[in-house]
Amino acid sequence: SRSRVIAGNWKMHKTPSEARAFARELLAQLGGAARPEGVEVVLCPSFPALTAVHAEIERSGLGAWVSLGAQDLYWERQGAFTGEVSGPMLADAGCRYVIVGHSERRHLLGESDEWVARKLRAALESGLTPILCVGETLEERRQGLTETVVSRQLETALEGLAAGAVAGVVVAYEPVWAIGTGENATGEEAHRVIDGVIRSRVRARFGEEAAGRLRIQYGGSVNPANIGEFMAYPSIDGALVGGASLKVDSFTAIVAAG
Ligand code: 13P
Repeated sequence: SRSRVIAGNWKMHKTPSEARAFARELLAQLGGAARPEGVEVVLCPSFPALTAVHAEIERSGLGAWVSLGAQDLYWERQGAFTGEVSGPMLADAGCRYVIVGHSERRHLLGESDEWVARKLRAALESGLTPILCVGETLEERRQGLTETVVSRQLETALEGLAAGAVAGVVVAYEPVWAIGTGENATGEEAHRVIDGVIRSRVRARFGEEAAGRLRIQYGGSVNPANIGEFMAYPSIDGALVGGASLKVDSFTAIVAAG
């Protein structure tokens, strides 16, 4: 059966020194309790803090189940692309995961489905596990477009990949209206999209094995009080956590319930 992935997306929070101190405290707490069975943890700090957090993961001895992830990447391997960061750079900095297509990048920074698709391929080519974010806005939901939007984002990103590559992707269903609002989707709503749209589309396009292995998280106002509601659904393979990943106690509680 699939492992579950609890990932903390720190967004544009914590300087490198703050990230180092936070990671040290968090890893001490995680290491002090029993490893939750079948759970992997991913910490996604800002680019300048990656090296510091990687060093803390190494130092903690928890590298078998706690990994480093980045929040974005560019699709070229190197070259004249001022300000961008490539997959090989992230892999060399110790990343195993990278978020692609987060809604803040799609909506605040104008990333298209095609850019996200290129980034996803670049991640796979660099040996990184992409965490592909998909999700509808409130307006799209009101218009009954959830399935249309999520399917389009998913299918554009995965178009042309081999089934074996798709099986290794992590998808995060993050309804935009639930991000940072305190208004989480219900477990049932998340399950309906995760199972009825995402996993079933992958099954139709890439087959039963890829659909069975693909891990699909829920994200959007996840906290220690509501994580259990999502983890009660076997279709939901973990969570992508924003605000609640910035506090040691709340993230530790989410991991313990994962
Ligand atoms: P919040 O948990 O703060 O709602 O953020 C979710 C998110 O965007 C994670 O990527």
